[in-house]
Amino acid sequence: MRKAMRLRNKMTLWYTALTFLITVVFCLMLYFITNNVLEGMLEWEVRLSMQQVIAQIENEHGMLTFENEVPVSSTSMFFITEENGSELASYGEDITIFDQVPVKENVLRKVKGETGEWLLLDSEPVNVGHFVLRVRVAASYALHHQVLSTLRILFLAGVPLMTLIALAGGFVIAKRSLRPIRKIINSAEIISQGDLSERIPATHAKDELGELTGTLNRMLSSVDTAFVREKRFTSDASHELRTPIAVIRAYTETLMSEPGLTADQQDSLQTILTECMRMQKIISQLLTITRGQEGRYPICIETIRLDAICESISEAMAEQLTAKNMCFECAIPNNFEIQADQSLITQMLLNLVENAIKYGKYGGNIFLSAAKEDEQNIITLRDDGTGIPKDALPHIFDRFYRVDSSRDRSGTGLGLSIVQWIVLVHGGRIHVESDLGKGTTFYVFIPSTFVLLDHSNGSL
Ligand code: ADP
Repeated sequence: MRKAMRLRNKMTLWYTALTFLITVVFCLMLYFITNNVLEGMLEWEVRLSMQQVIAQIENEHGMLTFENEVPVSSTSMFFITEENGSELASYGEDITIFDQVPVKENVLRKVKGETGEWLLLDSEPVNVGHFVLRVRVAASYALHHQVLSTLRILFLAGVPLMTLIALAGGFVIAKRSLRPIRKIINSAEIISQGDLSERIPATHAKDELGELTGTLNRMLSSVDTAFVREKRFTSDASHELRTPIAVIRAYTETLMSEPGLTADQQDSLQTILTECMRMQKIISQLLTITRGQEGRYPICIETIRLDAICESISEAMAEQLTAKNMCFECAIPNNFEIQADQSLITQMLLNLVENAIKYGKYGGNIFLSAAKEDEQNIITLRDDGTGIPKDALPHIFDRFYRVDSSRDRSGTGLGLSIVQWIVLVHGGRIHVESDLGKGTTFYVFIPSTFVLLDHSNGSL
């Protein structure tokens, strides 16, 4: 896949390309204007020389005299002939180079001689007494060409130099102007990991970036407030529901022990009791979640023995395991110690084992093991139960998500959310692999060295 170009590089390239274009256009304009001005000056020089030369020819008592002064420019030359072609006077190094050039009266022409290019002008016949003369003046393009070639050298060196300066300058300017955006991105990354209390560092500049920072921070504050309010509501609601549910359960249990109840009444009371217990489970799980989110869950990190926890889980689950005739094998080495919160890790394994039983087949097997590898503890729980469909796998850690909620009413859809939160507060991660109809394996990675994380970091 083609990698997108970074904004800083894009800005630098645009800036450089624009400077290059402007410099080239400017140089071309300067070149053509200089060329035109020099051309105009040369024309003016030739015409003026022609006037000077003609003014110097005099007829003194039937004799032609010529003052033979140099023309306007030393780069010009002239040639005066009589009507029959015989030379009367001349100035210049080698005017004969134009001998082959036919006369064209009053027409400025560019001609090439051995000594370079010349601008040539022939006069109309000049009558001095009874003499009829012709004057030819030429001015050299040498200086003109020299100026233009110096300009060309300057441009050829100047344009790449200007482009390089623009490239370096553009890079520095783009980097400086995008620095606040980098800060915004870094803060946004922290926020996107779940820390809504993070704010983008305020810039004091009163420009668009300053405005953007302010607006984003205000938006974050209101999202944070709404989020805290929502968490508080769930926590308060769960807390408030605890007592009425406990009362309903107590009265139901009392009623059930009353003599003389019909089978239908017994059934109805049993349903109420089952739903009460389910509700109590949801409430207690919701409280765990919201307390975790609010960072109010007391976490106590100590050295704990995983093999001992495994034993206690095996005991706690004995009844359920027997009910499904399942075998729970715990292959955790003796004295397998990790740095973690005892009650949370127990809760995490209980949830996973409970699921393995719930979604395991009658007479199935559950296998729990642990190993240390590359500075981390890997806990593996494998079962040979129903398995999880591929399309459901990305969602199983979502709150209230259940693969088949219609079939089984005992689940709440919160167990794996809690598992994921527990793993995250320990700085670890969880991975699941499943084959539909064959079984599921959960891998929990807990770092050997514990790094205290914000309790609310787990995305519940
Ligand atoms: P529940 O209370 O429904 O078990 P969980 O959050 O614990 O909720 O699990 C979410 C869903 O993931 C379950 O509804 C179930 O479909 C699926 N699941 C979890 N563990 C297993 C497992 N070991 N085998 C098969 N499916 C599982």
